[in-house]
Amino acid sequence: DIVAANVQIAELTSDGLEEHDPDMVSALAEHVRLETKRQDESKSLLRWQWTKCYVMPWIPRNPFHTFAIVVALLLLTTLLKGFFIYLQDVLVGSVAESAVMRVRKRLLRRVLRLDLETLSAQGTGELMSRFTYDTEQLAGGITLLGGRLIREPLKCLACAVLALVINWRLTLLSLFFVPILAAFFLRFGKTLKRASKKMMESMSRIYKVLEETFEARKIVIAFGSSRRHRDQFQNEYQRYFDKALQVVRTDALAKPSMEMLGLVALFVAMLPGAYLVIRAKTSIYGIRLAADVMDSAQLGTLYAMLAGMLDPCRKLSTTYSRIKRSAAAADRVFALMDMKPKVREVENAAPLARHKESIEFRDVKFRYPVSNESLERPAALSQINLKIEARQVVAIVGPNGCGKSTLLNLIPRFYDPTEGELRIDDTPIPQVSLNDLREQIGIVTQDTMLFDDTIAGNILYGRPTASREEVEEAARRAYVTQFSQSLPQGLATRVGEKGKDFSGGQRQRIALARAILRDPAILILDEATSAADAESESLILRALKDFSAGRTVLIITHSMSPALLALIDRIVVMDDSRIVGDGTHEQLLKECPLYDRLYHAPSRDGRAAA
Ligand code: ADP
Ligand code: MG
Repeated sequence: DIVAANVQIAELTSDGLEEHDPDMVSALAEHVRLETKRQDESKSLLRWQWTKCYVMPWIPRNPFHTFAIVVALLLLTTLLKGFFIYLQDVLVGSVAESAVMRVRKRLLRRVLRLDLETLSAQGTGELMSRFTYDTEQLAGGITLLGGRLIREPLKCLACAVLALVINWRLTLLSLFFVPILAAFFLRFGKTLKRASKKMMESMSRIYKVLEETFEARKIVIAFGSSRRHRDQFQNEYQRYFDKALQVVRTDALAKPSMEMLGLVALFVAMLPGAYLVIRAKTSIYGIRLAADVMDSAQLGTLYAMLAGMLDPCRKLSTTYSRIKRSAAAADRVFALMDMKPKVREVENAAPLARHKESIEFRDVKFRYPVSNESLERPAALSQINLKIEARQVVAIVGPNGCGKSTLLNLIPRFYDPTEGELRIDDTPIPQVSLNDLREQIGIVTQDTMLFDDTIAGNILYGRPTASREEVEEAARRAYVTQFSQSLPQGLATRVGEKGKDFSGGQRQRIALARAILRDPAILILDEATSAADAESESLILRALKDFSAGRTVLIITHSMSPALLALIDRIVVMDDSRIVGDGTHEQLLKECPLYDRLYHAPSRDGRAAA
């Protein structure tokens, strides 16, 4: 051919034609094409010769030997592949597990730094579900990220490169569908993420129902209301089921649609390709689709490569949905992680020396936050002005719900006042280190929280560095020893979950011992004797009598008793979010009608409801 072309060029030149003649141009073009082809052919000849020279001698002549070698090679490569897959799975698995471990640890650290209000708003069920279910979903995504998501695109890329080498025109033609595919996946991913998020929200409601049910097991059994809780669970689960199915449906749709679209893309290259080969042409309707007339072997390889591109895409489509689910989980987990505590100390907060002057409330107002503005509750504290001198023992009295607990909750900064400020030793408390502040405060509340540990362990919680003798001393002072003595294991007796193995009064005394061990400058007792019987109460008050020396003690109670009166220096009377009386017992009996009523009410009346 090349000779013929050269002859033609020579003829055209000798005919004396002008150099810009179109015939000349096309003849030259043909010449270039043939020249290129000759080069290609000689290159492939070189390759063949090289193979024959260097590779062929290694290949055995005996067909059986060849077969044996092929089998051995197959075995070896499979072994290698197996080894690397094992390695990959182990590596990726350990990365995923340790990533989740770190996320959980970090999450716990962040969550424990949140203030009481934010934490309460989340609720135990919600938090539990984020820690377990959501992070589990996250782990699934990470595993894929290190596995398929790396392997499959690599396969796809390899096939794409080969296909482009064989025939870039036809390959590009089939890639024409990629944007459509991408658009489809974007849309699909959004739907899936939304559905996954709903699914997880649903799961956290299930956790909530479960938590509430198990927590209130006593009431559930006593009121025979297990059916109601079962129904509640079933309803929530049905909702979860619907959401989960929605995810499954979207998920299931991905694979076939991906396959269909991929196949269409393949056909777009297949049909013209077959046409070109069968008709031995290089262009259709004047559109050039091949550099050269392809043979069927080339076309076959091209098809194989295109199909090879399709397969990873198909596998990736399922991976993609898992990743999306994981992304939704990540959103939820990180939203929790990014929450900012509302109670914060100022930067380089001042250290707080042991409290020795006063605690002062200045024009304090407080309103509990609500999610819905229109349902705003009345203020829990309004216009509170109160100065408590250090080392005073003060009783805060008033009817239920008047704001006593709220008032004292502001001291350890469980909440910050909505308006006004709190000063300790004349320093506004937002400016002192939270640690220093809380270290000086001992609290015994109405619902004493004990941990599933020994009595000694629970007391030690007050100051983990305390010695054994100090724990025993605290136990003795809080009259814990009085009942622990008769137990075979003494202070080493376990208290059970939330202290369920002990009575209310005993739990209160353990809690008091915990506060005593802390050696606080400020002791807060919030209806600490409400769960105690008369004997326990008098023991607690006796313990306080010794212990209150040199400390600021704030005792909340909703009724006064003579035993308490002997202990205190001052009484603050509250009613309906305000302070309505302040002074000694005798003063208040004369001046404050509410106090008079509280004092003369039957002494233990209504205490259980407090
Ligand atoms: P008490 O004097 O009985 O200790 P509290 O200080 O507990 O009264 O409550 C004062 C008011 O604030 C009550 O009306 C109560 O309903 C409301 N309240 C208490 N705790 C919260 C809370 N966490 N969220 C919303 N409102 C609360
Ligand atoms: Mg209260």
